[in-house]
Amino acid sequence: MRFGFDIDDTLIDLRQHAFHLYNKKLKKNISLDVFQTIPTVEIHAPFGLKDKEGGQMWKDSMEEIYFTNCPSFPDALKTLKQLEADGHEIFYITSRPKQFCERTREWIKAQGFPVKDENFFCGMADHEKIETIKSLYLDYYVDDKPTVLNTLLGLDTKLIVKDQSYNRLETHRRLVHWSEFKNVL
Ligand SMILES: [Mg+2]
Repeated sequence: MRFGFDIDDTLIDLRQHAFHLYNKKLKKNISLDVFQTIPTVEIHAPFGLKDKEGGQMWKDSMEEIYFTNCPSFPDALKTLKQLEADGHEIFYITSRPKQFCERTREWIKAQGFPVKDENFFCGMADHEKIETIKSLYLDYYVDDKPTVLNTLLGLDTKLIVKDQSYNRLETHRRLVHWSEFKNVL
């Protein structure tokens, strides 16, 4: 089968990683309990930042957020390696900005994820992911963002939402732990 994966907050725990960095940079100590209830993809509100300031903070921190030691979710790596070993085709579709695409591909490889260069797609806007996903005839696609998944509803591709605090109202097949991936299919 053909499996497509978003990267940030689907395979790797990027928001939590960024949350720790924000605490450090802003000299705060906001707890993970707060993090776990943030109802938006953006993480700046608990730090008292307005949307514009939060957007700027993210932009200024991107390099550090993307290319330091962001962990993958438990069993995500193992699951993708097993899919590859079982002969399935694996695609990555990430809307990270174009200037970070090449380094992102190398970073994700360095974490041990099975990546074929030609199966790595990057640098489109969220609402443009549909064009890539459509052209790949994926059997399954996994993403965390409602704004992405809801553009894909008309496709034959089966959609899976990676469980996060900001997507609990979505009714797609839901992946809470990567160890359960095969049960969600
Ligand atoms: Mg994502």
